[in-house]
Amino acid sequence: MADGKKPAQPLIFLGPPGAGKGTQAREMAEHFGVPQIATGDMFRDHVARGTELGRQAKAVMERGELVSDDIVCAMVAERVRQPDCAAGFILDGFPRTEAQAERLDALVEENGFPGVLAVNLQVGYDSLIRRLSGRRTCSVCGEIYNVYSRPPQTEGRCDRDGGTLTQRADDHEDVIRERLNAYERQTKSLVEFYRERGALLEVNGEQEPQTLARQLIGQLESQPIGPRGIRHS
Ligand code: AMP
Repeated sequence: MADGKKPAQPLIFLGPPGAGKGTQAREMAEHFGVPQIATGDMFRDHVARGTELGRQAKAVMERGELVSDDIVCAMVAERVRQPDCAAGFILDGFPRTEAQAERLDALVEENGFPGVLAVNLQVGYDSLIRRLSGRRTCSVCGEIYNVYSRPPQTEGRCDRDGGTLTQRADDHEDVIRERLNAYERQTKSLVEFYRERGALLEVNGEQEPQTLARQLIGQLESQPIGPRGIRHS
């Protein structure tokens, strides 16, 4: 971020599956020039490559349940220690339990950051179902489409690179329901966790993605604390 565009501290995105965490995290990562760390994408990559970690995660993901805290925390810790995360990073899909949030606190401290800022995307149940069941992802560049609200110009093909659009294995109705249940049971309380420490930004996730991204950039650029706790206002 040599050009002075700074997100505040490392950012995390909260919100149920389908709230738009991946889309907004990607927009913020591009704008601020820091890496996006999406734990779901990392697991899907392990599954596709047939690694031991992928083998452990696959069945759990197919049921719509959460992978164990130990596995996901070790994977995130290793990623955050890479040099490209030194000036900040954006987490998408992590933390998802209070134990993960506590481990993240230790990790950001260990890496010299003042703490994280959480963005909570608020979206109603009907929109979530529509977004998840309509979601398609480019198998080449990862661009996200939606057959209802953002269809590609050519059915099944990415507008950017013509890559095949695929549907995630866990975006089918029965698994969607289980993922939303897991969010209610294990993740929703994190909103309070970050609110209580004054590190929560609540936004209306029902807005158009581009409108929301612009709003978020404005809010993040006016945050008083930059990477490594340097005040830049
Ligand atoms: P996502 O792409 O974020 O919806 O994640 C897809 C799946 O990966 C989830 O349903 C979980 O099975 C697993 N997963 C991703 N992130 C985490 C996490 N932080 N903790 C536990 N499981 C996770």
